[in-house]
Amino acid sequence: MSNKEQRFTLGLLAMEGSVLSSLIGPTDMFRIAQKLAQVRDPGTPLWPPHGVLTMALIEARELTKVYAMGDQTVHALRGVSLDIEEGAFVAIMGASGSGKSTLMNILGCLDLPTSGEYRLANEAVEGMQADQLASIRNRRIGFVFQQFNLLPRTSALENVELPMVYSGVKAALRRERAMAALQKVGLGERFQHTPSELSGGQQQRVAIARALVNNPQLILADEPTGALDSQTSEDIMRLLTDLNGQGMTVVIVTHEADIAAWARRRIVFRDGRIVEDVAAWTAGQARNDDARDGEVAA
Ligand code: ADP
Ligand code: MG
Repeated sequence: MSNKEQRFTLGLLAMEGSVLSSLIGPTDMFRIAQKLAQVRDPGTPLWPPHGVLTMALIEARELTKVYAMGDQTVHALRGVSLDIEEGAFVAIMGASGSGKSTLMNILGCLDLPTSGEYRLANEAVEGMQADQLASIRNRRIGFVFQQFNLLPRTSALENVELPMVYSGVKAALRRERAMAALQKVGLGERFQHTPSELSGGQQQRVAIARALVNNPQLILADEPTGALDSQTSEDIMRLLTDLNGQGMTVVIVTHEADIAAWARRRIVFRDGRIVEDVAAWTAGQARNDDARDGEVAA
């Protein structure tokens, strides 16, 4: 390629990066970026590679959150900056009261920071009005909570249909997509059951199906296994790992180290600040390795 062609290709990739990455996935994007880095113009820095790899889904800068409690103020976040790439699997840890849920609410566009900047998929969130926040949530984010938050006396199918009611999807298509989401979480057979007729793990699966049904880029799960036993927790983490494997960005909050061990990056909060941020080998990968070792041994 001539220099001119290279520049053109780089420009195209930078523009179409998000479209392309959704077609071919982050791993291939990374390979393409590596190739392009090899043929780059002499004199251009190798890193960062000029927009080709800037696929941060979440870009947060110096977020603060101050709650007024009567004449007291609570500094829940004290300047949090963080990027999360598309396709990441992140666990947020930290003691109770350290600001994890406050951050998740801001990342989820449920709440606005007191100060700081937040871009989600390149849209500036910090200045948005309530209707714009609702729209970005609906288009991009699926939520999973500790207590499942399903409607009681309402079937699994109808619970999963709910986000599509808000986004105006027609009834027949709603049903079809809700069934597909329930099948994806292994609950296709139980679509008529109400929450009280399902176990905790099954209820959380319904909640995950509900989170998936608008095909979000981002799943935010605040203590998704907090109300589940350890075997069921593992099933839920395996499900989230599968979804992440299909390209969905997953951010979970957890107290438990063995739950955080499923994530590929761990961020620890203390008193409204990030005190640790590490990439890590995951429980899922370790299990795959064990399985492979088992095969060799057998
Ligand atoms: P975590 O999820 O890590 O337990 P939170 O983000 O819920 O922590 O809370 C961080 C701090 O902010 C705590 O001191 C908490 O009491 C306070 N806080 C959270 N939400 C509110 C609120 N709506 N009003 C006042 N204070 C709040
Ligand atoms: Mg919390």
